[in-house]
Amino acid sequence: MFESLKKKFSGTINKISDEVSSKEEEEATRKKEEKVKDLPKEEKEEKVKSDLKLKDEDKQVKALSSEDKDKETSRFSFLRRKSDSDDASGDKEQKDLADSKEKTEEPSKEVKDKIKDKSDSKKEDEEEPSGLFTFATHKTISEKDVDDILFELELALLEGDVAMEVADQIVQSVKEDLVGRKIKRRSDLADYTREALKNAISEILVVEGPNLEELVQKAKKTGEPLKIMFVGVNGTGKTTTISKIADYYVKEGYTPVIAASDTFRAGAIEQISHHAENVGVKIIRHQKGADPAAVAYDAVEHARARNKELVLIDTAGRMQTNVNLMDEMKKIQRVVKPDLAIFVGDALTGNDAVEQARKFNDAVGVDGIILTKADADAKGGAALSIGHVINKPILFLGVGQGYGDIMEFHPDWMVEQVLGD
Ligand code: GDP
Ligand code: GDP
Repeated sequence: MFESLKKKFSGTINKISDEVSSKEEEEATRKKEEKVKDLPKEEKEEKVKSDLKLKDEDKQVKALSSEDKDKETSRFSFLRRKSDSDDASGDKEQKDLADSKEKTEEPSKEVKDKIKDKSDSKKEDEEEPSGLFTFATHKTISEKDVDDILFELELALLEGDVAMEVADQIVQSVKEDLVGRKIKRRSDLADYTREALKNAISEILVVEGPNLEELVQKAKKTGEPLKIMFVGVNGTGKTTTISKIADYYVKEGYTPVIAASDTFRAGAIEQISHHAENVGVKIIRHQKGADPAAVAYDAVEHARARNKELVLIDTAGRMQTNVNLMDEMKKIQRVVKPDLAIFVGDALTGNDAVEQARKFNDAVGVDGIILTKADADAKGGAALSIGHVINKPILFLGVGQGYGDIMEFHPDWMVEQVLGD
């Protein structure tokens, strides 16, 4: 299940790890080489410059030997030269003189000692972050480190039928989580990326929704049955799913009844009757072409009369664009006021399932989702996106053709499935 999604995530984890480490190692090697090559000269120059900028100039002037006074002169020549060039009428000779003086002058012994002191202490500071050790102590993940890889991830997710808004959110959330984090060990990168992805996906998957268990218990207590209407397109596995749910609650100790409210399609009544018989639940059926709302109404009456806790209402599977058939569903809603509408979608159809869910939600208001054929779904795009897109939770996954092949959906489980070790 969801193997391809899992592969994409582990690919990202490895790539971020490799990319950031190799960039960092290159950088560390480059810095080390530069340092070894340029250390004496650079540090001297740097020191001279910073000394010249010392705020406590008086003190410095006092401490300077006569040779240093030349240096002071040189400093002023420098200033003069600057103002000369400012008014664009520089005395070239004087400028050259100042330049040559600045180049040839040597700092005094005291200055040299100071330089040595400072450069020694600087060396100590800098010695530490070299080579791999830099990475071990100082690496902070930057946007540049992860941008390309996250862009690749986004494309891969889109290819895997993850909805655009969901792919966007995953990438944003992972980026926010990672950028600025300090890395101590190379293995931290993989751990942090995995954690960031887990957080991103949990955020997407955790959607507030009805608690079926509570609702059905309440129905048992009050004697008013819980009415669930199932909606969705033909062929997605709707009748099989209703039978699985019936079977599930029979095993939980409840007594469901099924309403054969798909009176539109030839064979639908027979099909669901056959399933109902298999799982041992009562079915309420009328003739083909009868009013679906009437069938649902009768099923509710039957449940009330027999103290059954659950009415499962099938509806004609139809394209979400068929206005008449959508109206028929609205009529069922008016007449029996189902407590819940559950959208049944086929995980294998990816984005189509998500789009169907959106349309059904707009038309009749969906409270929860069941995704079928998850057992055969490598991509996982619909499972990851559908709940977030319509802001309703996935309640169950269909995981096979048998009546027992249904499982409650828990976001943690899905996160483990695609990002577990
Ligand atoms: P309906 O037209 O929407 O009522 O679809 P059906 O319930 O008749 O199911 C269509 C096909 O999908 C049947 O062959 C089912 O056995 C199959 N099916 C339904 N749910 C699942 C599932 O979770 N996994 C698998 N592998 N097949 C399923
Ligand atoms: P309308 O068709 O939108 O005006 O809605 P109604 O309130 O008239 O009824 C909707 C459907 O529910 C009707 O077509 C009836 O078939 C069905 N219905 C309403 N009341 C009953 C009832 O007491 N028993 C049965 N079996 N069906 C009912």
